[in-house]
Amino acid sequence: MLDPYTPDVGSSDLTIDHYDLDLDYRIGPNRLSARASLTGRVLQETKTIVLDLTGLRVTKALVNGKRVRYSTRGKKLRLTTDVLPKNQPVRIDISYVGNPQPAIGTWGDVGWEELEDGVLVAGQPVGASTWFPCNDHPSDKSKYRIRVLTESEYTVVSNGELVDKVRKAGRTLWTYESRTPLATYLATVQIGRYRHTQLEAEDGAKTSPIPLGLYAGEHWPKASTRLQVQHSMMNEFIERFGPYPFDRYDVVVTDDELEIPLESQPLSVLGPNHLGEEWEAERLVAHEMAHQWFGNSLTPRRWSDIWLNEGFACYSEWVWSEASGRSSAHECAQTWREALADEPQDFLLSDPGGPDMFDDRVYKRGALCLHALRLAIGDEDFFAAISEWTTKYRHSSVATSEFLTCISAVAGRDLAEVVHPWLYEEELPELA
Ligand SMILES: [Zn+2]
Repeated sequence: MLDPYTPDVGSSDLTIDHYDLDLDYRIGPNRLSARASLTGRVLQETKTIVLDLTGLRVTKALVNGKRVRYSTRGKKLRLTTDVLPKNQPVRIDISYVGNPQPAIGTWGDVGWEELEDGVLVAGQPVGASTWFPCNDHPSDKSKYRIRVLTESEYTVVSNGELVDKVRKAGRTLWTYESRTPLATYLATVQIGRYRHTQLEAEDGAKTSPIPLGLYAGEHWPKASTRLQVQHSMMNEFIERFGPYPFDRYDVVVTDDELEIPLESQPLSVLGPNHLGEEWEAERLVAHEMAHQWFGNSLTPRRWSDIWLNEGFACYSEWVWSEASGRSSAHECAQTWREALADEPQDFLLSDPGGPDMFDDRVYKRGALCLHALRLAIGDEDFFAAISEWTTKYRHSSVATSEFLTCISAVAGRDLAEVVHPWLYEEELPELA
């Protein structure tokens, strides 16, 4: 088992360097006909390659150009090959068809989902296999080329850069390339009747050095105004967290309301219900942007370290609260310290358990742990350490121990004692 938090997915027997996905998708009937070419290596001698694939029918499978036997059971696709020695490079070609649907499980519906008029992909944590065969675990980050052929009235948004868009007999083929490594749960396709524009900065605000794009349909007027605040947000986050790790940031606003916003790379997906003027909406805009550093560029090697995503993204909300003239981060921390004191103190931030990995305590206690560090070493060292963290581990996989080493090095002292009660004990510590 690769990860006890997601026991049904992922394999430690192989690593994928590149996914080349060719999707032919018909929106009305929700019909997908696709080919996936995966290149990577087997990590130990084997005659079997196991990939994750959910609810789709395989029509052909090749390994290193040779047709192989395959079988599907549950969410697994099993390929039987000649013996492949350890470290053997492999190329796996899978043709598959079906009506993609979200997978229902511990974390609700995840994966490919039809909207009223389009598509949304919500991959976290185990939804990628609902639309392509993969090694569905964040420790195996890969580069991608994603091509989608669909009806021309629709806009397709995916990861990385749009490198080509051509019309083909009334339909349009969109090609995106992600040259920075991407975790499977962040791989995405968003389809809708969207127009794409660049967001302008608010009057008098400094423009972000990173292009900020918007994809929206019927809610474009509101979104294009409300999301202007992202220019100031981006400037603040770059100053606090270090250079932005990608070359653009886009937000997709769906026509349908969404229960929660979704993070992807380098984009986020919001519903029209997340565009209000109230703090509850704006904090989510900040939260999703912060995931580009925390979660996307720096991705936990194990799901048990999910606080490295959510604790940091939640703390970014408090940083933005302070920067935008609302409550200071310290006030936010005090409020949430008090609120958490009324919650059951029966979980470990360092190991919340699979079913509870998105429990609100992971977010708030994670942010409190960061604030405790900030109080211990002061603003200057704290933000220097965060910048060092995001720079040194840019585009890679990370663990809590590496964060502690990094921040201790910047502070010039061992900070294990400060973080230990927050991370490794159940009882909620006092804020110093
Ligand atoms: Zn989050």
